[in-house]
This record gives sequence, structure tokens and C-alpha cells, in this order.
Amino acid sequence: MEHDRMIRSFLMAAGVLAAVPVFAQAGAERDSTKTEVWAAVPAVATPTGAAPSDAIVLFDGKDVSAWEAEQGGRVPWTVANGAMTVVPGSKGIRTRQHFCDMQLHVEWRSPTETKGFQGQDRGNSGIFLQERYELQVLDSHDNPTYANGQAGSIYKQAMPLVNASRAPGQWQVYDIIWKAPRFSTGGGLTSPARITVLHNGVLVQNDTVLAGLTEYIGAPSYSPHGCAPLYLQEHASKVSYRNIWVREL
Ligand code: MG
Repeated sequence: MEHDRMIRSFLMAAGVLAAVPVFAQAGAERDSTKTEVWAAVPAVATPTGAAPSDAIVLFDGKDVSAWEAEQGGRVPWTVANGAMTVVPGSKGIRTRQHFCDMQLHVEWRSPTETKGFQGQDRGNSGIFLQERYELQVLDSHDNPTYANGQAGSIYKQAMPLVNASRAPGQWQVYDIIWKAPRFSTGGGLTSPARITVLHNGVLVQNDTVLAGLTEYIGAPSYSPHGCAPLYLQEHASKVSYRNIWVREL
């Protein structure tokens, strides 16, 4: 109880001990071990500088075997220089594996060349959780558009808390915590999807509750579904991706 003695000495020196006798005496009777957890030990997840040791690596800069075209078949995007890049007109790609709750890390880059492109036409792609719920990817550096459609938004549902965008041509990072929606056996929604997103290390979605799947027109709603692939959108922009990994929760 060296700590308690230090507090007592300090309070006596300060001349305020008489004002807090209960605090000082109760401290001496406390057993700090009663609130220590020893029965369970968290699994090791070694941070490596790339993906943590317990992560599923979905793209390491070279290998696209975790992915397929959205209509099935080989990935129709280009892979070069440690990144895969959208081929406009080729459609999106999705993981072969299905996911529910997860921690997801994605690095992306919008094209350096912005001339002639603005708003939703500049660096547009998207990360669809469970193939349905879009976290927008967009060049939102000095590129006005509707707030709930800019980078870091849950498209048409939730604007980001701040605009943490880097300039076009620079790599940007999303770190995502995804809680899948739950449905009853009868198909009713029992708990909605929730998402937390850090954009370049800055919180932009704070446990945001989703109203349903992403809709371009009209209000979102839910339809029951299970675990589903992660989907990356082709939206006519040459957006690049690298270092994608997931930890199932
Ligand atoms: Mg998009």
C-alpha cells in the first residue's frame, strides 16, 4: 500500500487530510486482486506492420485469389506495383469468403489526374460490407458533393464526422469495425448493422446505426440475410487498393 501512504503523506502536507478521512482509511483495506482477471487470457495478435498475425489477408499487393468478379470468374481489375486498380466498365469484385462481424483494414488511392472529373465522378468506388452496405470511397479533397455521399460516408445515410481526406494520388486508410445486422428466424430485424470507421486515423463514423442496405434512390430498408462477401465497387474511376485484411469478430 505504498500508493496509499504516498497519498496520505501528500494530503497531510497539503493540510486537507481531515477533510477526506474516509477515503484515506478505506484505501488501506482494499484488495486490488479482487478485480484482476486471470482466468482468461486474450489470444495473441502480433502487430507486424502489415496485417496482425491473426488476420485473414485478402490482398497483399500481388495475390487476388481471395477475390472473384461480381458475376463470377477471374478478377477483371489490373494488379501491378503492389496494388490492384479498377478497370472502368469491368464491374466490381467480391471476396470468395463470406463475413459477418469483422474488423477490416483497407488502403485505397484515388487517381492523381482529376481534370474533367468532379463530385461523384471523381475517384468513386466503395466498400460494401456484406455486399449491401456501402462505405463510400471518393476523392473528397477539395471536391464538393452531397455530404452523405463524400468519402467516409455511409452512402446516402450518414455523413462523416469530419473530412479526413488526403490529396488525390495519396494512399488513404480505412479502419472499420462492422457489426452485422441480426434477423429473427421469421426474418424480422432484431438488431441493425452498426459501423465505426477511422479515415486516416481520424474517427469519421462513431458506432453509426444503419437504416438498411444502400439505396441510390429512395429510403433504405432491411431484408434478412446471412454472412456475405466483401464487395469493392467499380464506378468508372481508376481507384486502387492495397493491403486489405480482415479479422473476424
Ligand atoms: Mg461509391
